[in-house]
Amino acid sequence: MIYVGSHISSAKGYEAMGRQIRKLGGDTFAFFTRSPRGGRAKELNLPDMERFYSMARETGLGPVAAHASYTLNPCAAKEELRSFTKETMYDDLSRMEHIPGNYYNLHPGCHVGQGKERGIELAADVLNTIIRKGQHTTVLLETMAGKGSEMGGCFEELREILDRVRFPEKAGVCLDTCHVWDAGYDIVDKLDGVLAEFDRVIGLDRLKVVHVNDSKGERGCRKDRHARLGEGHIGREAFRRLVNHPALQGRPFILETPNDDAGWAEEIAFLKRSCELS
Ligand code: FE
Ligand code: FE
Ligand code: ZN
Repeated sequence: MIYVGSHISSAKGYEAMGRQIRKLGGDTFAFFTRSPRGGRAKELNLPDMERFYSMARETGLGPVAAHASYTLNPCAAKEELRSFTKETMYDDLSRMEHIPGNYYNLHPGCHVGQGKERGIELAADVLNTIIRKGQHTTVLLETMAGKGSEMGGCFEELREILDRVRFPEKAGVCLDTCHVWDAGYDIVDKLDGVLAEFDRVIGLDRLKVVHVNDSKGERGCRKDRHARLGEGHIGREAFRRLVNHPALQGRPFILETPNDDAGWAEEIAFLKRSCELS
């Protein structure tokens, strides 16, 4: 059994997101905590969060995954941008304590010429600043395509960052299918092998969420351009195998495909009916 959903707009608040994903036929979702380009978060609406929290429990929604803004860069060279990243992520996580038990997903960042070693140090420093003892949200580093100086383009880098985290039980990984494919991992013909490698390098117990995206690029292109399921180089058959893989059961599978509501509803239905194990 897995949870299936898509990325949806957070403009109308938490309860509205819960209703919206139900309408699309899903039982998990991802959303931006604030504008994807950064900026201010909306005023905290506790009654809305409480209504969402009880609705999620009553209707059996799976865990959801907030996504940090794209402009934040844990490995930035400029001290101001790093502090802004920490403050914003810390604030996002404080808010999420009102809906305990969910995930906060972030990109490890770009080292912008400082080198991978420095990138690993800086990303770990951000995690150690924002993760508090006893917090109820698990922070996830996303696997990245490795475009430019992007960190997280291989499992080893994520492992090195995670190794430096003080509260490791509060940190995990979100596997993005488009990104790992673009980084060179063959999830089409060698899914077992890729997951075995993930297990060896990071540990599958730390894989908490899967982003389900086809890729416009060929394997290893390092471009990070998402496609609708079946309209890229990964293909629907690979996604059918993915959702049925025994090592991935129990996780939220979240679409970030370029789509409209009807398109997401169709892809959610496709992934759900592809599940043979449930
Ligand atoms: Fe992402
Ligand atoms: Fe993603
Ligand atoms: Zn992407």
